[in-house]
Amino acid sequence: MNENMRKILDKIKAYDKIFIFRHFRPDGDAVGSTKGLAEILKLTFPEKKICLQNADFSDYLAFLGKEEELLPDEEYADALGIVLDTATTKRISNQKYALCKEIIKIDHHIPVEDYGVCQWVEEHRSSTCEMVAAFYDTFKDELKIDKTAATYIYTGMVTDSGRFRFREVSGETMRLAGLILEQGVDTDTLYAHLYMKAFDELKFEAYAHKKMKITPSGVAYLFVDKKMKKKFALTNEQASASVSCMDSIKGSLIWLAFIDNGDGSIRVRLRSRFVTVSELAERYNGGGHACAAGATVYSKAEMNALIGEADALLKEYKATHEGWL
Ligand code: AMP
Repeated sequence: MNENMRKILDKIKAYDKIFIFRHFRPDGDAVGSTKGLAEILKLTFPEKKICLQNADFSDYLAFLGKEEELLPDEEYADALGIVLDTATTKRISNQKYALCKEIIKIDHHIPVEDYGVCQWVEEHRSSTCEMVAAFYDTFKDELKIDKTAATYIYTGMVTDSGRFRFREVSGETMRLAGLILEQGVDTDTLYAHLYMKAFDELKFEAYAHKKMKITPSGVAYLFVDKKMKKKFALTNEQASASVSCMDSIKGSLIWLAFIDNGDGSIRVRLRSRFVTVSELAERYNGGGHACAAGATVYSKAEMNALIGEADALLKEYKATHEGWL
């Protein structure tokens, strides 16, 4: 057991008010871990005020239900803040987190910034939801869980691990997934939500396949510019999903989606097999995991420079490694 787990439970017990936070532009793990932990704490400590306090949402996760309204500033002063799935404070969705009396960090990203009175960071975990599952498992004599909490947690475990495909998935992941599944998660409905797409979304995917390019060493990339966004009436979230269109091209171990944010900045989503791309992301205002990272560039020249660096990285990888397919 990680020594910080007991400290976290003791802190939770010591506070009457607990506010839970996650990163902006939330994914299944950010939503699942916050909602899952909140549900466990609400069930276990019905006398405490447990609230999710986040400032933005993702439409594609609306099936997990609404989140709570933001509370007035003065409410934060005597609250314990728990921030999940967020490596750096500037990525916290609601910057009012800083008004909380004390902060706890629970995360599985590469630790680039220390924050909070207690930090439980395990980067070998496939998701923060896996950590919430481990937290429940460790203290199951003291905590309660139900089907709703398990569904949130399972959603994050499934999505952040690429449906249990990524290298961080361990025997422990599967054991904890089994424990959570046994709480009655309806996987038919969950997978229907995760896989079914709007007809127009598929039309955009077909277009993205047509427009994607590949560098000499095999870096696949796509620039979703303003024109493309307008043509398919895409939200930033829908445009960002295009990164998945390039995830299984033979010989392409790195793939990049560039999304014009419309404010002078371009969001970069970096994905890879075998090759570490988080350091490349860090050189372009970003970070993340070894094989899934994010960054921001501010011009086409910078975008091309990043593509050039990715190409060189992949060339070097292929020249120095065998058995990458
Ligand atoms: P994304 O492509 O936005 O889904 O990001 C992939 C992973 O990298 C996620 O786990 C993000 O939390 C992380 N990430 C994205 N952007 C950044 C950033 N600027 N700094 C640190 N981590 C990031």
